[in-house]
Amino acid sequence: MTPGISRTRTVGILALQGDFREHREMLERMGHRAVEVRKTAQLESLDALIIPGGESTTIARLILSNGFQGPLRAFCATGRPVWGTCAGAILLARDVDRLDRPGIEVMDISVHRNAFGRQVDSFEADLDIAGVEGGPFRAVFIRAPRIDAVRSPAEVLATLPGGAIVAARQANMLATSFHPELTGDDRLHSYFLRMAEEPAGVGD
Ligand code: GLN
Repeated sequence: MTPGISRTRTVGILALQGDFREHREMLERMGHRAVEVRKTAQLESLDALIIPGGESTTIARLILSNGFQGPLRAFCATGRPVWGTCAGAILLARDVDRLDRPGIEVMDISVHRNAFGRQVDSFEADLDIAGVEGGPFRAVFIRAPRIDAVRSPAEVLATLPGGAIVAARQANMLATSFHPELTGDDRLHSYFLRMAEEPAGVGD
């Protein structure tokens, strides 16, 4: 069982496209129940929801064609934890450059897709993440977005050494540019699941 989490959680992973399987494996290793969500009715029974990395334009198209946009917005409004990783972060943002259709648009952040350039499509970095104890967190960036602006009540959780924002939180919602499901480190998944118990915000 994850330290600090008193019970097994049922965590959904939106499984329309992208790397939902890696999140599922991480959650199961942590002792939680993971559900691949392909129908809106599955949202009902979840304690928390992850929107994975993948191709944001494709996921946005599938969200619309499968009738997920309204139910996902409603899920975010219930206060249950929601986490967008990489493409998922793009879908949570209210402002995105070059997304050809609306995402979920619930977090007060501006996101720049593929912001780190073709030459460095993928890279890794050690991050200090507010609220994640135990030393730097190794983060994997794959054609990653950058968070260009974070407006209150959203807050910055982590930046790269050059200052680029790569993690932000707004109440029950978390956005990360990188892929925490690809390393063995489950501290950010634990942080995410604790968000329901620690709704006051970051850094406290
Ligand atoms: N570049 C992708 C997009 O804009 C995101 C990449 C990822 O999720 N790893 O959708």
